[in-house]
Amino acid sequence: MSAFQQLGLEENLLQAISDMGFETPSEVQEKTIPILLEQETDIVSLAQTGTGKTAAFGFPMLQKINPESRTTQGLILSPTRELCLQITSELKNYGKYVQGLNVVAVYGGASITDQASKIKKGAQIIVATPGRMKDMIGRRMIDISKIEYCVLDEADEMLNMGFYEDITDILSHSPEDKSTWLFSATMPKEVSVIAKKFMHEPIEITVGTRNTGSANVSHEYYLVNARDRYQALKRLADINPEIFSVVFCRTKRDTQKVAEMLIEDGYSAAALHGDLSQNQRDLVMKSFRTRQIRMLVATDVAARGIDVDDITHVINYQLPDEIETYTHRSGRTGRAGKTGISMVIVSKSELRKIKQIEKIIKKEFVKKDVPNGMEICEIQLFHLANKVKNTDVNQEIDVYLPKISEVLEEFTKEELIKKVFSVEFSRFYNYYRKAKDLNVAEGGSGADRPPKESARFFINLGRKDDLEWMDLKDLIREITQLGKDDVFHVDTMNSFSFFNTEVAHIDKVLEAFKGVQFNNRKIDIEISNKRRSRGGGGKKRGRDDRGGGRGKGGFKGKGKRGDDRGGKFKGKDRRKSNRSNEKGTGGRRRRR
Ligand code: ADP
Ligand code: MG
Repeated sequence: MSAFQQLGLEENLLQAISDMGFETPSEVQEKTIPILLEQETDIVSLAQTGTGKTAAFGFPMLQKINPESRTTQGLILSPTRELCLQITSELKNYGKYVQGLNVVAVYGGASITDQASKIKKGAQIIVATPGRMKDMIGRRMIDISKIEYCVLDEADEMLNMGFYEDITDILSHSPEDKSTWLFSATMPKEVSVIAKKFMHEPIEITVGTRNTGSANVSHEYYLVNARDRYQALKRLADINPEIFSVVFCRTKRDTQKVAEMLIEDGYSAAALHGDLSQNQRDLVMKSFRTRQIRMLVATDVAARGIDVDDITHVINYQLPDEIETYTHRSGRTGRAGKTGISMVIVSKSELRKIKQIEKIIKKEFVKKDVPNGMEICEIQLFHLANKVKNTDVNQEIDVYLPKISEVLEEFTKEELIKKVFSVEFSRFYNYYRKAKDLNVAEGGSGADRPPKESARFFINLGRKDDLEWMDLKDLIREITQLGKDDVFHVDTMNSFSFFNTEVAHIDKVLEAFKGVQFNNRKIDIEISNKRRSRGGGGKKRGRDDRGGGRGKGGFKGKGKRGDDRGGKFKGKDRRKSNRSNEKGTGGRRRRR
C-alpha cells in the first residue's frame, strides 16, 4: 500500500488530503495520479462508482494548472447538475491551499449571467454539464480555446443521457493538443467510440474487473407476480427496519406513483425524477442526506447524482431497460468500505434478465423469498426491543415518574413489557396476520399465467399516449370494471397494446369500450386471437408487430398519436385505481 506522498503530489495538496482524512489512495488514484502527473497523455480510466475518481483526476489537474494565470486551463464535463456541484466542491476542498484558484460550476437551471460573471473573474477550472456548457460557448461567455486538460467524467452516463452531440460540439471549440482524461464506470461501445474519436492513443487503466459491481454488494432477487410488486417492496422495507435505500423505477411516472403510495402508507419516502423543479430536487436530496427520507424512489437519470454513503439497500422495483444500468444502480450501495444489498423484484418474464446481469457483474444472484407477515412482525419486535434497550433515558421524565408509576402500579414487569410492545407490535400484526404468500415458484408452468382459456385483445393505445402497461391495465379495468386478476398479459408498445381476459369476458369488454374516447380519439379495440399460446404470444400479428412499435401505424393508421399527452378518456369517469390489496397499511410511521 502506498501513501499519497509517494504519488508525486505537492505539499499544499498533501496538506489538504490530510485535512480531509484520506489515509491511503484508492486503487484508481494510485494507478492514475502518477501517470497524469508525469505525462501529457490521454487516458481512459475505468472504475466503479465510489472508487474515488474525482480525486484521481482532480489532484493532477490542480497540480498542473497555473493558478496565477486567469486563463481557463481545465474543463470537466459531467452528466448532472448534482455531480457537477459535487465535483466543484471536492475540487475546492482539494485545492484549498492553492493560492488564487478559482473553480466554477456551470449547469442548467440556474442563472446563466451569474455563472458568466464568475467565469469572467478568471476560472482556471470549469466544471460543467454539457447542455449549459454548449449554450455558454455559443454565447461567447466561455472560452475554452486554451484548455490543456479536459475530463469526461461518467462518460458512459453522459452518452446514456444523449449528450454525444453536445460533447462533440463543445470539444470542437477546444485545442487539438489538449489532454483528454475519460472516466467511466463501464465501457459500452459508445464510450469506445468517443475514445477513438476524441483521443490519441490513450493509456487505458482498469480498476477491478471491468463492468463488475463493487465487491461489497450482494445481489438478491425476489420472484413475485407482477401485480404484487408493490406489496413485495413494502415487505422488503418492513423486514429491514433500519433501511436507508434508493428504490429504482423505470419511468418518471412509476417513480412518482410508487413514492406516493409509500408516503400514503406511512413510509418516509420521496420521489426524485426529472419532472421536479431544481428546488424540489434539492429539497428531496437534503432530506435524504439527513436521513429524514429513508426510501428515495428515483429514476436512473435522477439518481446519477446521488453521492450518499451508507445506503443499505438498492431496490430495483423494476429492472432497467438497459441491463448495463444495473451496475450503476447497485453501485449506489456498498460504498466507502461498507457492505450493501442490491435487491431486485422480478416477475417470471424478467428472469432471463437476471441471468444476463449475472454475466455482466460476474456474480450470482441469490434467490430469496419475500418475507411472510410473521417474519416481519418478529423482526420488528426485536428491533423495537433493541431500540428500547439502547434509548438514552430522558431525565425529564423523573418528575412525572411517581404519577406514571401510580397509573401502572397494578402490572408486573412482564405485563408491562407486553403492554408496551403491543403498542407497536399490534400495528404490524394486524396488518400482516392475514397477508398472503407473495412468492412465485421458479420454473413450472408459471403462476403468473392464469390457466383459463383467454382472449387476446388489440387496443390502439400505447406508450405514445403516455401509458405503460400498469397504467393501461388500470385504465382497462376502470372502463370494463373487471377485477384485478381478470386483465392480464398487458403488453404496451408504442402506438398500440395487447391484453388478455378470459374468453367469458369478451362481450363485456367490447361492450364497455363502445364510444369511449381517449385524448379525443376513439378507442379501437378488437380481438387479436382467442388463445394465447404459452411463451409465444398468439398469432403472428401480435408479436411480429412488436418491433414495429417504434415505427408508426402498424395498424392501418389506427395507431396515430393523440393530440395531447396525459389526457383523460371520455365517456366514463376515471376512478382512482385501486392498487392495493393489502391496503390499510402497517408500514412505518413517517416520523420515527
Ligand atoms: P467516484 O467518482 O469514483 O464515484 P468519488 O470521487 O465521488 O467516487 O469518491 C467517493 C467518496 O470517497 C467521496 O466521498 C470521496 O471524498 C471519498 N474518497 C475518495 N478518495 C478517498 C481516499 N483515498 N480515502 C478516503 N476517502 C476517499
Ligand atoms: Mg465520480
